Order: sequence, then C-alpha cells, then structure tokens
Amino acid sequence: MKNIAIILSGGVGKRMNLDIPKQYMEIEGKPLLYYTIKAFQESFIDHIILVCGKDDIENCKSEYITKYGFNKIKAVVAGGKERYNSVINGLKAVNCNSDDNIYIHDGARPFVSLAILDRTRLCLDSEKACIVGVAVKDTIKIVDDNGYVVDTPKRDSLYMIQTPQAFKYELIKEAYNKLEELESKGSIADLKITDDAMVVEHFSGHKVKIVAGEYENIKITSPEDIITAKEIIRERQL
Ligand code: C5P
Repeated sequence: MKNIAIILSGGVGKRMNLDIPKQYMEIEGKPLLYYTIKAFQESFIDHIILVCGKDDIENCKSEYITKYGFNKIKAVVAGGKERYNSVINGLKAVNCNSDDNIYIHDGARPFVSLAILDRTRLCLDSEKACIVGVAVKDTIKIVDDNGYVVDTPKRDSLYMIQTPQAFKYELIKEAYNKLEELESKGSIADLKITDDAMVVEHFSGHKVKIVAGEYENIKITSPEDIITAKEIIRERQL
C-alpha cells in the first residue's frame, strides 16, 4: 500500500503582508516550504505531489527537487483559486490504487513531526478519514455580525484542526469529484470550505476520526508566527 502526500503551496498568504507568498519566505536561511517538504521526505511517505502557483512550477522544481534533492516529489502541479481547487488539482496528479493513503498537508505548516505522521498512518489502518487536531485551550464563542455572543460551545468537545488530513484515496477522490461537479454547476461559496474533512463530511457522510496533533504543528499565517517558527527551527536543529 502506498502513502502519498499532497503538499499545498498554491496560496498567496495575504495575512502575512509580504511581497512573495509566505511559503517561499526564508526563515533561518531556508524557505518555509523547505522545512515542510523535508518532514515528508524523511518519513515513510512514498511520493509527494507538490501544488504551487502556476507561475512557480519551474522554480519549485529547480529549488526543491534539484537544489535540495527532495526526490520523493513526483509531480509539481498548478494550484487553483481556493485551497479546495488546489487539492482537486493535486488529486488529479495522483497515480494510485483505491485503498492507498493520501495525506493532504498545508505547505505553510512546516513542523509536522514523524510522530504525527505515524499516528495518522496507524489510524488509517482502521479508518478511512483521519484528521490531526488538538484540544482548544481557550473558550470559544459564536458571535453574530454585530459582535454579540450568541453561543458558547462546550470546550471539551472542541478541537483545533491541523493537517495532515489523511484519507483512503477512493473516499477523498469521490468526495472531491462531487464537489467539482457541484462547482461546475454554479456557486459553492455558501459551503465555505476550509478543510478536506468538510468535503468528506458534506459529500460522503463518512465518519472522520481525530488523531492527536501537536501545538507546535502551527500554520504560519501572520507575522508573529515567524518568531515561534525561528525558535522551533533552532530548538530542533532543522
Ligand atoms: O490560506 P490557508 O492558510 O488556509 O492555506 C493553507 C494552505 O493551502 C497553504 O499552504 C496555502 O499555500 C495552500 N493554498 C493553496 N491554494 C490556494 C489557497 C491556499 O494551495 N488557493
């Protein structure tokens, strides 16, 4: 059985206020995306599909395959407008069997550990949809458009969801096929899709299992995350 990672690097990273997409920003001398791909290259993963901006394909090939020697990268493909469009393009580049494992991961999440990847793989031995998450530490409020609290969900049932989100190929491919079909018929903006599990929940109804993540498995999103990132890189000697 094959383990295939789709690493998403097709976003523009508006919240970082940079001239270049955040995944190419250098931290401690290397692009952010370098640390992400390295984690997968040094794991049990067999193949990597890298999804990037359509104008970045050649650069990514020379940077990550040639310069850094990440030979598990089997294809570099163009992303799409939204994250889910990039996932659809990544899935189209995958060549595998229905029961192979697909790990979809944010390129901007460089500190995924081998322990997380191992736990996720183990989960896929008995489940078809496994997503990494950590318990929330703060109280979460649902707030209306005017800034008034309308509800306070019980904290012990709330998780912050990270990536990888891992699935049997057949399940995730079918769910995304349905999403693509719906998108071609009109707008799916109302669904406000922000992760892959949502696609499975909505289009297949299959149960999704939570796997223990780590608080250090952060997505670099806004400038203050860079301080944390530098500390983790130094501490782990990456
Ligand atoms: O925008 P957000 O932080 O949720 O993006 C998560 C990951 O998805 C990032 O690594 C980003 O590069 C990727 N992405 C993508 N294509 C898009 C939007 C985001 O590959 N259209």
